Amino acid sequence: MIKRAALLLLLSIGSAQADPLPTLTRDGLKALTLAKDSIAFRSVAGVHNQTINVAELYRKALVDGGFPADAITITRLNDTAYMVFRWAGQENTLKPLVISGHMDVVAADPSDWTRDPFTPVVENGYLYGRGASDMKMSNALAITTLLHLHHQGYKPKRDIILALSGDEETAMKTGQILANQFPNAEEVLNLDVGGGTLDEETGRPLFYSWSGAEKTYADIGLMVADPGGHSSEPRERNAISVLAQALVKIQTHPFRPELNALTRSYFLNAARFTSPRLASAMRIFAASPDNVQAVATLRADPSLVGAIGTTCVVTMIKGGHALNALPQHADANINCRIFPGHSRGDIIHELSAIIDDPSVHIEDHSQGSVETQPSPMNGPLPSAVTRAAHEAFPNVPVFPSMSSGASDSMWFREKGIPAYGASPIFMKASDDFSHGLNERVPLSAITPGMHFLLSLIPALSQN
Ligand SMILES: [Zn+2]
Repeated sequence: MIKRAALLLLLSIGSAQADPLPTLTRDGLKALTLAKDSIAFRSVAGVHNQTINVAELYRKALVDGGFPADAITITRLNDTAYMVFRWAGQENTLKPLVISGHMDVVAADPSDWTRDPFTPVVENGYLYGRGASDMKMSNALAITTLLHLHHQGYKPKRDIILALSGDEETAMKTGQILANQFPNAEEVLNLDVGGGTLDEETGRPLFYSWSGAEKTYADIGLMVADPGGHSSEPRERNAISVLAQALVKIQTHPFRPELNALTRSYFLNAARFTSPRLASAMRIFAASPDNVQAVATLRADPSLVGAIGTTCVVTMIKGGHALNALPQHADANINCRIFPGHSRGDIIHELSAIIDDPSVHIEDHSQGSVETQPSPMNGPLPSAVTRAAHEAFPNVPVFPSMSSGASDSMWFREKGIPAYGASPIFMKASDDFSHGLNERVPLSAITPGMHFLLSLIPALSQN
């Protein structure tokens, strides 16, 4: 999952109290049960990966609800699996709507958690468990919504494809395979990204933000080699010191501040929901991205620095081979999140210029990532998302954003298919523990989430 709208971290963090236990409809209870049952499967990459069991669980729910078994395919790939459910539309000349999600979760060490991460627990108005918010509740809401629509006799005009990947949190190969299967998709609704934010104090909806672009992920290796020698005879050049100097240059390099239509709209809208100091910097930056003071203020904020340009940071180092030897090797991994519009090659070129030392060898080590352009701001999906968010919470402000992390949307955007992150979940920033400890989702997210999807899926499949 992509982190929720960057602004989340700026809002005051209230008590960990959820809203009072909501009354759930039969569909709401069905979604809760499906979410719980899926959390109980440890769909983590590696040995004993149970992603295929999650897929089988979803298939059973769809078939029990009246969809034909042959509309669902589950395909194994290494230790994981991916799933496609096709709800055939009435008009086969129309391109399909793809609803994208993932069944795998980030690893969780039970000894670190208060409750077992793979035993779903409902407590204090929350569903706890690894994958609760990222993104098994969203999958459950989507499947329950499709079943509800089917039960109501709804007939989509275009095919609805539910495409669930099985390694979004790791290798991201199955997302690519799924995108290759639907190169003619009309558009992609990715339920893993974006979402609604509730006020920390009152629990009322503050805003809903959908994502229309994401930054390009890159791992860039720096390698320094040296003949080494006896540590009692130091010389001017030392591989670790050479690497260290390169790292300091990268750390202090200001990548160019940038703005696009999505981030401009984000800053102008999100400024209403943050502190006066940040709001002022956001508004100034949206008008003139060269303003030094505004850039400095935004750059100092970890939740906003990624929205104003490319970032590169050292994430791993390795060097030396003996306590008493001059190092023969020193290597580092630089993790970059590249602003749309630049290639990985551009950034490697820029790093090479910053380091300005030909003895530091630079290599692109990126795997499973592609460069993509933002999806159109004014397509049919953004306006349908606005109506759907208003179906969940009338008049809630809705605006776009750009994700700093990578998602399965990139595989579709790469093919020129508009893809949008629009999660059905509304929650408080302080409740978002995706990828972290004691992940949870408030039960109060279930009913608005269903209203959201009951509006959105028909809107996107009717014409
Ligand atoms: Zn996710």
